[in-house]
Amino acid sequence: MVNENQFGNRDKKGHWRPFKRVDYGPLFRWPSEPMQLFKWLFRWDGYIFPWNFIYALVAVLVWTYFTPPMETMKSFSIDWIAYITIRNGVLMTLWYGVFHLWLYVRRNQGTTFKYNPKWPETDNSAFLFRNQTIDNLIWCFASGLPIWTVFEVITLWMMSNGYIPYLNLDTNPILFFAIFLFLPLFREVHFYCIHRLIHWPPLYRTVHKVHHANSNPGPWSGLSMHPVEHLFYFSGVIIHWIIPSHPVHALFHLVHLVMSPTPGHAGFDKVIIGDKKLLDTHCFAHYLHHKYFEVNYADGSIPLDKWFGTFHDGSEKGDQLVKARLKGLKEKST
Ligand SMILES: [Zn+2]
Ligand SMILES: [Zn+2]
Repeated sequence: MVNENQFGNRDKKGHWRPFKRVDYGPLFRWPSEPMQLFKWLFRWDGYIFPWNFIYALVAVLVWTYFTPPMETMKSFSIDWIAYITIRNGVLMTLWYGVFHLWLYVRRNQGTTFKYNPKWPETDNSAFLFRNQTIDNLIWCFASGLPIWTVFEVITLWMMSNGYIPYLNLDTNPILFFAIFLFLPLFREVHFYCIHRLIHWPPLYRTVHKVHHANSNPGPWSGLSMHPVEHLFYFSGVIIHWIIPSHPVHALFHLVHLVMSPTPGHAGFDKVIIGDKKLLDTHCFAHYLHHKYFEVNYADGSIPLDKWFGTFHDGSEKGDQLVKARLKGLKEKST
């Protein structure tokens, strides 16, 4: 079995933190390092592999095998809309379910690499039915799934009818692949903007509080949001109503929105596969957001939090800086 002490340490309360600091990769490092940039793009645990590649692959498979013909989607009909709803529900169940089953039901690696040693709450009034997992499932399926599907149905219907600009692989191959490459970056900026917005106190108290009830998140916390947050969150896909895109781009965007929060809220820094294969979830930056609220609104490749002064690098010094900053803000407001 892998020893987590090689990668990080636990404090007196049993909270684990990795030695490796939160990092954005070389995309915005100056002076730029083309070789580093190239490696980061294509190496394992870089920009593309494994996560963005998995999401793109799923989008291609969904488009090729599990999306009705464009001709069918030209007019709204219960048949194909119900089909897409069920297909999305199955995708969500499988993806989130695998993480939840592996890490939280079977507990295959115990608390090894788990940031917070506690398991999900089973008796806490912050959650519906006082149960964190049940609460998360309800928000995911009752709100996340229908709102995701509505955005998808409207986008596919408009593309099928030629109401919005359409991009073809044959005529624009470079742009076609470039959109795949840039969409995760667009997502970071869009998420950062809406995330700052819903931390505005009136919206936080009424909307974003639902997501932040999960101070110790698990996979299902990823899409556990108030319907208004879901509306903001999925609204990024509207970009395809403006820039020329292929349906597979819109599907990639939606699949990314739905699938990436799962490893992003896993609660574990690494998933152990087999005896010693490790899969990095890259969720420490966002875990810190759930722990300290006013830090790391975005994470990924664009250092937005560094630029806007809300970055937490994951170190103990970072904890102290955040506490001092929050104390200063509190004093200022009183
Ligand atoms: Zn979150
Ligand atoms: Zn937040």
